Amino acid sequence: MSAYEKPEPRINPDNAGFWESAHDGALRLPRCGDCAAWHWPPGPVCPACFSARIGWEEAQGRGTVSAWTVVHKDWFPAFRAEIPYAVAQIELAEGVRLTANVVDRPADALRVGLPVEVVFDRVTDALTLPRFRPRRG
Ligand code: ZN
Repeated sequence: MSAYEKPEPRINPDNAGFWESAHDGALRLPRCGDCAAWHWPPGPVCPACFSARIGWEEAQGRGTVSAWTVVHKDWFPAFRAEIPYAVAQIELAEGVRLTANVVDRPADALRVGLPVEVVFDRVTDALTLPRFRPRRG
C-alpha cells in the first residue's frame, strides 16, 4: 500500500508554466527570450546565455525515444492501473529531453529511436499529464 493517496506534481515557480499548459491540454516549454534556446528542466535563467527572460512557448510534442525502462513498482500512483508501465526519455524536436510515460505501445515494442507524439490523457479529475504514444503513420 502506497503512502501517497493524493499524487500531485511538485509545482514551483520555475515549472508552474508546464503544469498550467498540461491542464490546458498543451505542451509548453521554457524558451529564452534572448538566444531563443529551449531548455528543460526549467529554471530561473537560461543555461545557454544566463538571460532571465524566460517565456513559455508551445512545443510540437513530437520526438523520439532516447532511453527507456519498464517500471514494475508503484512509484507514480497516478499510473497504478498500468503497472508495469514504461518510462522513457523523449528527445523532443525542440532539442530538449523530457521524461515521460509511454502509453499504447505493443508489448516489447519500445525501442530507442521510436517516434512518439504527446497525448494528454486525464489521469484523475484534478490532474492531466502529458504522456507520449508511438506516432502513427
Ligand atoms: Zn538564452
